[in-house]
Amino acid sequence: RALLAVPLLLLALLAGCTESLTSPPESGPAARVALLLPELKASRYEAGDQPYFAQKLSELCGGCTVDYRNAEQNAETQLQQAKDALDQGAKVLVLAPVDSVAAGDIVSAAKARGVPVISYDRLVLKAPVDYYISFDNAKVGTLQAAALLQALGAKASQGEILWINGSPTDNNATMFKQGAHAGLDGKVRVAAESDTAEWNPDNAKAWTARILPTLRGRSIVGVYAANDGTAGAAIAAMKAAGLPQVPVTGQDAETAALQRILVGEQYMTVYKAIRTEAETAATLANDLLRGRHPAETTSVDNGAGQVPSILLDPVTVTRDTIASTVVKDGFVTPGALCAGA
Ligand code: BGC
Repeated sequence: RALLAVPLLLLALLAGCTESLTSPPESGPAARVALLLPELKASRYEAGDQPYFAQKLSELCGGCTVDYRNAEQNAETQLQQAKDALDQGAKVLVLAPVDSVAAGDIVSAAKARGVPVISYDRLVLKAPVDYYISFDNAKVGTLQAAALLQALGAKASQGEILWINGSPTDNNATMFKQGAHAGLDGKVRVAAESDTAEWNPDNAKAWTARILPTLRGRSIVGVYAANDGTAGAAIAAMKAAGLPQVPVTGQDAETAALQRILVGEQYMTVYKAIRTEAETAATLANDLLRGRHPAETTSVDNGAGQVPSILLDPVTVTRDTIASTVVKDGFVTPGALCAGA
């Protein structure tokens, strides 16, 4: 018996070693996690959030499947997708809502089945979500404002800017707007300001093309654009109208935007480490599947109470800092930046 115990002990020790060396996924029930993303026009969702989330979850949980759906900016579609995912047996919902208020119905449907909801990137308002993972979104706006003021210099008091916000149904758009107004109000005059329905760059481009002829003779010295999609739209519309290049803000560090920054068409973008955001959400989803409730780093009031939250830090990117930010972080490769140039 004692003789037998030695090799068994050795085997057990070895198994422990290989386990800690390769850290295989924790075993557990094969579970489905629904990842409900809002739209396709911003490149981040399919190029970043979705693959990073899926990869991290499969590392942590071998038996887990990601049920990924994209609502293409339709809140009703998103509700149907959520209900369908729940019918298919989703045990956690990771939800970036198309409409921050309407998404309360999704939370109700999940709660009716005891399924926890992680509000991902965008905050669901007035509904009892379990966690919120995002960036400091007011800070995104203040970074954009500070960079625009810096780019304008003395011109800030000599002309006016165009101002393009995101979708009024996205709480993030409200936060970006608030942060930016806090930084720019009283420092530069606004010739015209508009929200962008569905965050759709086509809508931003159409608005800019429509508004420019009404501003003839006025000096447009810059553009506040809430993200890279709307920035590209404004730049295209101004170019088509034969106007000179002016500093334009953005957000997301999309490859197309970084290329515009390199050639001087766009002044800045805001880098949000989407990989960290998606991996944090996957880690949390895995914890919730196993009944673990990790301590949050902060909390945010969403109108239904304090939501345990993790808020990451956004970073300004200009031509001078592309190398030390997005390239250094591996978010984009120099090769990708040069492609098509
Ligand atoms: C996200 C941005 C994105 C925008 C449009 C916001 O909620 O935080 O990264 O550009 O939605 O999808």
